[in-house]
Amino acid sequence: MWFAAKVRARWGALRGAVLGVCMGISSVWAQPIPWIDVHVHLLATDLAGARVLAADAVAFAQSQGMRTVFLFPPPQMNQNNLLDGPEFSAALEEYGNRVAFLGGGASLNPILQEAANRTPSASEVEAYRQRAEVIAKSGAKGFGEIALHHLSMTAKHPYEMVSADHPFLKVLMDVAAAHDLPIDLHFDPILAQATLPEALRGNKNPATFAPNVDGFEHLLAYNRAARVVWAHAGGGDDFGAFTPHLVTRLLTEHPNLYLSLRPRSKRPGAILGTGERNDEWLAVIESFPDRFVMGSDSFFVQSTRGGAAQDFAERLGSQTQAIRRVLQFLTPDTAQKVARGNAVRLYHLN
Ligand SMILES: [Zn+2]
Repeated sequence: MWFAAKVRARWGALRGAVLGVCMGISSVWAQPIPWIDVHVHLLATDLAGARVLAADAVAFAQSQGMRTVFLFPPPQMNQNNLLDGPEFSAALEEYGNRVAFLGGGASLNPILQEAANRTPSASEVEAYRQRAEVIAKSGAKGFGEIALHHLSMTAKHPYEMVSADHPFLKVLMDVAAAHDLPIDLHFDPILAQATLPEALRGNKNPATFAPNVDGFEHLLAYNRAARVVWAHAGGGDDFGAFTPHLVTRLLTEHPNLYLSLRPRSKRPGAILGTGERNDEWLAVIESFPDRFVMGSDSFFVQSTRGGAAQDFAERLGSQTQAIRRVLQFLTPDTAQKVARGNAVRLYHLN
C-alpha cells in the first residue's frame, strides 16, 4: 500500500479547510502569489514509486499555489536503495516546468558522510567529481540536499557532520561553480562550544558540539562562483545560533550565500512559532530581498521506506501554509522576489 494514498487524503481535507478560510476572507486578502518551493523531498526506491509520488507532489503543489516544486532526496547517511534526482527524473518528464529536481542527496552525500573523518584517495576524489558532473549534465537544477552539519531531530533521524574543508566539498563547490548550479546545504550552526540541549536528547546527537561557523565561511569563500542555498532559515533552533543576527552578518560578508525559508516551528526563534510572528526575521528578509527563497521541506515517501521521513510526511501542508502567510507579511516587491523571482534567477528556470 502506498503511504502516499494516506497523505493524499490528509491534504485533501486540509485543502478544503484552507480554501474555506480563503473564501471567507477573500475580500481582505490580495490574490495569493504563485510561488516556487525549492525544497521538497521525494523518497522513492523505484521508478514506479517515483511516478506515484511525483503525481502526488504535483497535485499538492497545485493545491498550495505553487508554480514549480523542486524534488530531491534528503541528505542520506548510507548507500541505500533510495533513488537520487537523475535516477527518478524520468518520472517527472510529463509535468514540464511545474517540477524541477536536484541531485546528490542520495549519492554525493552518503559518500561524503562515509569519508567525513578521513582523507579520500585521489581516485575517490575523481569518482566524486565524475558523479557531480553526471548530476550537473542530467538536467538537475542544482545539488542537494548536502549536509555539512545536520542535527538528529528524532530517534530515527541521522546525525551528520563533516569538516567544511573536506576535499569532496571543495570538488562539489568547483563543479557547482563550473555549471552555475546552486548547492542546497543543510547546516546547523554552532557559535560556541556547547553541550547537547535538553530538547535534542534521546536522538542520535553527540554530547558536545564545537563551533562550526568559521568553517562554513571558509567553504563559502573557497569558491565565490559557487552559490550556496542554506536550507531551513527562520525555523528556529535549540542552540539559539541560527538567528537574524548571524544571517545578517553572513549575507553581508558572503555574496554567494542564499537562504531558503522554512518558517514554522515550535523551536525557539522561528518566524512563525508558538507566539507572535518574528519581526526580526521579516526585517532581515526585507533588508536582503534578493537572497531568500521558499523551501517547505515537505516529504513524499514511498511506503517501502521506514524511518523519520514517514513521520515528516504526516505533517504535509503545515509549512506551505506558513510560507503563504509569510508572503502576506512581506512588502509586495519583496514577496514577489522571495516567492518566485529569486528562485527563477538562482536556479535558471524558464
Ligand atoms: Zn535539511
